[in-house]
Amino acid sequence: MFQSNVRECYCALCRTPKKMTFTRHLSLIHYLQITLLTVVSTWLLFPLLEWKTAGSFFLYWAGFELTRKLLYRRELKCKVCGFDPTWYRRDVRVARKQVETFLKENPDSPLLRAKKTQTSSEMTH
Ligand SMILES: [Zn+2]
Repeated sequence: MFQSNVRECYCALCRTPKKMTFTRHLSLIHYLQITLLTVVSTWLLFPLLEWKTAGSFFLYWAGFELTRKLLYRRELKCKVCGFDPTWYRRDVRVARKQVETFLKENPDSPLLRAKKTQTSSEMTH
C-alpha cells in the first residue's frame, strides 16, 4: 500500500508485458510492522511469558519474508503462458513442464489462441 514503485517488465517467453508491484525484499515499513507486532504481543503476553515473547520478532520476520517471497514469485509467474523465471533459472525442464501443464489447463490462453490462428491460416494456404 505504501509502495508505488510499479515496475514494468516483459515475459521472457511470450513477451506479454507485466507489472511487478512486489519486491523480493522487505522494506522499512515491514520491519516497523514486525517490531510493532512484537511489542504488542510481548505486552499482551507479558504476565505469562515476560520477555520471552520478544523472541517472536524472529518468527514474525520469518513469516513476513515467506509471504513476501510467495507474493513475489506468484507475480513473477506469467499469467498468459505460466512461465516461471525462478524455475527457469533453477531447472529448465521443470519450467518447460510448468508451461505445458499451464497451457493444458488454460486452453483459452491468448498465447495458445494466437498459435491456433497461425496454424489454421497456414492450413488454408
Ligand atoms: Zn508469458
